[in-house]
Amino acid sequence: MTSREIRQAFLDYFKSKGHQIVPSAPVVVKNDPTLMFTNAGMNQFKDLFLGEAAIKYPRVADTQRCLRVSGKHNDLEEVGIDTYHHTLFEMLGNWSFGDYFKKEAIAWAWELLTEVFKLDKDRLYVTIFEGDAAEGLERDMEAYDFWKELIAEDRILLGNKKDNFWEMGDMGPCGPCSEIHYDMRPDSERAVVAGQQLVNADDPQVIEIWNLVFMQFNRLKDGSLVQLPAKHVDTGMGFERLVRCIQGKSSNYDTDVFQPLIQFIAEKSGIVYGADEKTDIAMRVLSDHIRAVSFAIADGQLPSNNKAGYVIRRILRRAVRYAYTFLNFKTPFIHELVPVLAQQFKGVFDELYQQQDFVEKVVLEEEVSFLRTLTAGIQRFENYIETNSNIDGNFAFELFDTFGFPIDLTELLAREKGLSVDMDGFQKALTAQKERSRAATAIDTGDWVLVNEDQESEFVGYDQLTSQTEILKYRKV
Ligand code: ATP
Ligand code: MG
Ligand code: MG
Ligand code: MG
Repeated sequence: MTSREIRQAFLDYFKSKGHQIVPSAPVVVKNDPTLMFTNAGMNQFKDLFLGEAAIKYPRVADTQRCLRVSGKHNDLEEVGIDTYHHTLFEMLGNWSFGDYFKKEAIAWAWELLTEVFKLDKDRLYVTIFEGDAAEGLERDMEAYDFWKELIAEDRILLGNKKDNFWEMGDMGPCGPCSEIHYDMRPDSERAVVAGQQLVNADDPQVIEIWNLVFMQFNRLKDGSLVQLPAKHVDTGMGFERLVRCIQGKSSNYDTDVFQPLIQFIAEKSGIVYGADEKTDIAMRVLSDHIRAVSFAIADGQLPSNNKAGYVIRRILRRAVRYAYTFLNFKTPFIHELVPVLAQQFKGVFDELYQQQDFVEKVVLEEEVSFLRTLTAGIQRFENYIETNSNIDGNFAFELFDTFGFPIDLTELLAREKGLSVDMDGFQKALTAQKERSRAATAIDTGDWVLVNEDQESEFVGYDQLTSQTEILKYRKV
């Protein structure tokens, strides 16, 4: 199946189960002070769960473009390094607003994955909430009992509160969740640990694909939990990960979601994808970041020097840095990916196709201006090493502060020349600057200075863990 067919099959399946198919909300959130970017499918339905908006359709499904680059969900540092966390990704979801509950949600998820998508049952695992005595929360035996009708009991694993209990915030709707994981390891490796799934913890070939959240409690102001009068289902499945499993690839980037971009980059750079880990990472970063940047711009967020605009600028500059450093693109290139992407999403998210020229122009302008700074910084670096035998902390800081060099770029340049960087000195200078700017409560304008997250109170979506290392660290029931 192609990725287009897979997306459509998901929507068709839930349509056949009485769901209304709704459009994706924009990835940029404009009217919610607690959230910068859409980070989960449920964001656009928040008011329904809080009982603050009328329920029009009790069953809804969609594909939502999500961005996880700030606040509670920030996967940015993993992106390109691992093969299944993206900045922008599609979250396929189905919802019940006071309608069906665990039984149907579980049965349909299973039927869709195993009957429609024909995923191998022997590679699927599920998790259920183990309970929490301190909170007076019981193990989710309801979910367990529905799952055991469908899957061998030794494939149902227990998860703790952090992973398997979802809360909207300090107050409000919450409940246990059940995750579905897929084991893509070759048979030979899986055979070694048959009956002992715990061994696959931390394996990047065992990935979470779907999270089914069952909202059944309301947390009151005093922290106590009461049953919700109407129970809801909120599910989210990573589209690119699903495609990878169905297409039998060991990386999301090997699917037809990313290959058109990767191949375009490979052709233009004259470097083969797969030839070297460093250039591979760079190609993955570019093919990922252009999606986040393009959709953010198409959805109305231009790169700028503060808040959401600053996050977008940083993502784009991260891409430029990888392109420049590892793929040898010394002149603007990344904007050329916009038409490739727009074509890919034609008929899915037409927002990009309709604004293709504009988006391309904005990306080009950003590239031009950042490359100018980058080139000037490298010139400054070259001059410096003519008279210095290693990189002083203050100089590393100057590159960081004035030329937007992240410290790893400085280290890389230094390493290439066989020089070392005074990291302690750099940290000292950085700390001193932080203190100065805190004192002045100035807005950060450096290219790579982190946005001060403390000043933004982010909406709490799903759980808080994001690293690939969390996969399957569950106990068996
Ligand atoms: P992970 O543990 O892999 O970081 P998560 O538990 O943070 O995922 P959820 O909040 O449960 O993810 O979101 C629902 C689904 O969205 C996940 O099961 C996964 O398939 C997908 N997903 C989450 N984060 C990303 C991401 N950064 N890129 C691609 N898909 C993602
Ligand atoms: Mg999850
Ligand atoms: Mg997870
Ligand atoms: Mg995560």
